[in-house]
Amino acid sequence: MRVNLLGYPRREMEAFFAKLGEAPFRASQVLKWVYHSGVDDFHAMTNLSKPLRERLAEIASIEAPEITGRQVASDGTHKWLMQVAGGNCMETVYIPEVDRGTLCISSQVGCVLNCSFCSTAQQGFNRNLSAAEIIGQVWLACRELGHHPNGPRIITNVVLMGMGEPLLNFENVVRAMELMMDDLALGLGRRRITLSTAGIIPALDRLRERCPVSLAVSLHAPDDELRSQLVPLNRKYPIPELMNACRRYVAHSPKSQVTFEYVMLSGVNDSPTHARKLARLLRDMPAKVNLIPFNPFPGTPYQRSDPESIDSFRQILLEAGLVTITRKTRGDDIDAACGQLVGRVTDRTRRSLRLRAPDSEPASHHP
Ligand code: SAH
Repeated sequence: MRVNLLGYPRREMEAFFAKLGEAPFRASQVLKWVYHSGVDDFHAMTNLSKPLRERLAEIASIEAPEITGRQVASDGTHKWLMQVAGGNCMETVYIPEVDRGTLCISSQVGCVLNCSFCSTAQQGFNRNLSAAEIIGQVWLACRELGHHPNGPRIITNVVLMGMGEPLLNFENVVRAMELMMDDLALGLGRRRITLSTAGIIPALDRLRERCPVSLAVSLHAPDDELRSQLVPLNRKYPIPELMNACRRYVAHSPKSQVTFEYVMLSGVNDSPTHARKLARLLRDMPAKVNLIPFNPFPGTPYQRSDPESIDSFRQILLEAGLVTITRKTRGDDIDAACGQLVGRVTDRTRRSLRLRAPDSEPASHHP
């Protein structure tokens, strides 16, 4: 089987060429072809010797997931359905704004966390995406949108807020993020990458050491009782410990703060009392709050809070000195909004297995 070099960060690419008896700069040449020129055919890499090109074509490939569906919403939001090995699908979303363009990518096929308000949860869990499948979403979006790392800025930010819990696919997510940051690949600054997590505490500490990108935490409730109902993971990693992990995450980096995501569910977590409790909880935290109006999906018992409740909730946080924004709903006419990504999981048999030991996944490097 040919080895898929998409998803190989620079040092692994160098190791690959070292094994072939080639100089390390071959790695740089190939990375530039792949990410700066969008080339996936070794024969087209004209600054490599002909024999090397032929050798590479025999033993290696540059293989992104296959796009099986494209939709563009009335507000310009793009959504791609991508097929991954094994017959399942995942989704990737591009959100253009006046001053930036954000690509929202998935990290797993399905999700084990089973948050009660999220449609991905209803799909069950199939497997982790490989690093190639994660960076492949960015690579394909660049191609589709005509983004070149040295050209006009079309994709300025990447958020890991699609399907899956990125910290339960730690190694592959880190490898893909390394490529996003490498000047030979995407060249995004680390603050332009945001990883959103429900709060896998040990992995948060590892992330800080390995790849301290911007952090978003899905909080959704100001106390353990309510949060455990919405985000079952909270029973394992309750709020006080999560808050300490967030403090550790930003402690060594002066200007950083944690973005707390808070889905606004009518009559569930959206009262002024909840807002005041939340303000107290985040009092000493370098934090900003992102209120996300709930995006409904078929079969959900929840409803979106009305705009007045969201405004008064926000007002209370603002008055307590917390920077708070209400996330604009984008792409909901094509089911591309937060929590509406479903992809397609045909094989759910592995879900119960993974649930037992969510954070003891072996680091799997290769697809
Ligand atoms: N597993 C990661 C990232 C995936 S979801 C996490 O939990 O952070 C990205 C964000 O969308 C999370 O904050 C998630 O809680 C939120 N979300 C999920 N379902 C939603 C829905 N139906 N409406 C609005 N936001 C939702």
